[in-house]
Amino acid sequence: MTRPLGFQFDNSYSRLPDDLFSRCQPQPVKSPELVLFNRELAGELGLDADALDNATGAELFSGNTPIEGSEPLAQAYAGHQFGHLTMLGDGRAILLGEQLTPDGQRRDIQLKGGGRTVFSRGGDGRAALGPMLREYIISEAMHALGVPTTRALAVVATGEPVDRETALPGAILTRVAASHLRVGTFQYAAGRQNRALLEALVDYTLDRHYPDHKNSDNKALALFEAVMDRQIDLIVHWMRVGFVHGVMNTDNVALSGDTIDYGPCAFMDRFDTDTVFSSIDHQGRYAYGNQPTITQWNLGRFAETLLVLIDDDVDTAVEKATTLLKSFTDRYREKWQAMMKKKLGLFGDDPVDDKLIADLLDWMQKHHADHTNTFRDLIGGELPSAKVYKNEDFINWHQRWQVRLNRNRKPATSSWCLMRNHNPAVIPRNHLVEQALTAATEQHDLAPTRALLGALATPYEDRDGEDPYRQPPAPGEQVYQTFCGT
Ligand code: AMP
Ligand code: MG
Repeated sequence: MTRPLGFQFDNSYSRLPDDLFSRCQPQPVKSPELVLFNRELAGELGLDADALDNATGAELFSGNTPIEGSEPLAQAYAGHQFGHLTMLGDGRAILLGEQLTPDGQRRDIQLKGGGRTVFSRGGDGRAALGPMLREYIISEAMHALGVPTTRALAVVATGEPVDRETALPGAILTRVAASHLRVGTFQYAAGRQNRALLEALVDYTLDRHYPDHKNSDNKALALFEAVMDRQIDLIVHWMRVGFVHGVMNTDNVALSGDTIDYGPCAFMDRFDTDTVFSSIDHQGRYAYGNQPTITQWNLGRFAETLLVLIDDDVDTAVEKATTLLKSFTDRYREKWQAMMKKKLGLFGDDPVDDKLIADLLDWMQKHHADHTNTFRDLIGGELPSAKVYKNEDFINWHQRWQVRLNRNRKPATSSWCLMRNHNPAVIPRNHLVEQALTAATEQHDLAPTRALLGALATPYEDRDGEDPYRQPPAPGEQVYQTFCGT
């Protein structure tokens, strides 16, 4: 008898109309080896970490051995990539099934890099070790930062090379997600001009992510509004921690409101709203400061897919959707302001707040201040000692901030506590991520990756100013470009 592993699959997606997916099997790999295994997440999923953190896990999370109850499939979807609509689908990701967790959640378990599917086009269906470790590190960091995200359960090295510009070690990431429904899923269904398919998707998405809206009079409109609100919450988090997603194509916008698809994403060191890392984002479409506007644009594409369900009269449908979409700007602004006030330890509303926030950001932009460390250095209220702060503009701003803090009607300790909870000390700085990945892929040394993961697990904990995980890159260490997760 083998030990029960804790899998409890129920595959609701495979019961949807079969236009939406294609059944397929992962392609076996030569010699799977478990490189990373997320024991804490395994526990949350109801899986037996001890039974899986070994060769058994390598067999299952490579797809070499089927998981009991699994009904593997690749999802169909379309997507606006850099503004252009394309038919995509899971070209290298295979959904194994949906795990029912002990606390009543349903979680997709997906192999990324599991082999070719009918949607692979020219691709090999595979993934390289470096980018899969990168997704593991950054998605787990996001989770610890409190940012909604897909998660990473395992990375398995396949023992096979993948052919990129050079031969690279191959790997498979086991991704865990609230679902893989995306704006692109609706774009695909809308493209089929099949109303029943769209209706099925609306019901399914409401059921899975927005059950409170299941009985709305206008389900499509209610879904649109609910997705918009969660996207706003998500982007406000990204802006808070300095995250640049890098490929905000509509196929990478999850309807659950989670961050999905960690390709050329990276965290900003110096504050600069124009920050772009992705090597293919030549126009800066997905720059840090553009993320809210692009989200609104992506939501517009989502609304278009729903118009036929919003109202039988197309003009009325457009009017209803447009009114909601236009409210994005105010809704975003309000949540962003509230977040920024927490970063600055401000309670209550005060007429000076907007300008205080704007002036600090202007100063940071002008002086190339480190985004993470600036906010963290403000905690405690002393004038911070680093050289960058030794200028009149900053000192003036700091005085104005002190005056405003005094109007909080709360003890100063409440401000420092609020700031500690909203300003991380540790983020996955790109130079550290790259150093860890180089050691892992070139020297088979996982120690820097494990140490980095350890530091990223408690990002809000106090750390010495000299702590290596708090340091911005030294000159020569900066990483200016990241590449798509291939
Ligand atoms: P992404 O940039 O990861 O969002 O991927 C965009 C599209 O390309 C998705 O449809 C992927 O499934 C597909 N894709 C990316 N890499 C590969 C690959 N190596 N083989 C097949 N399809 C791929
Ligand atoms: Mg994608």
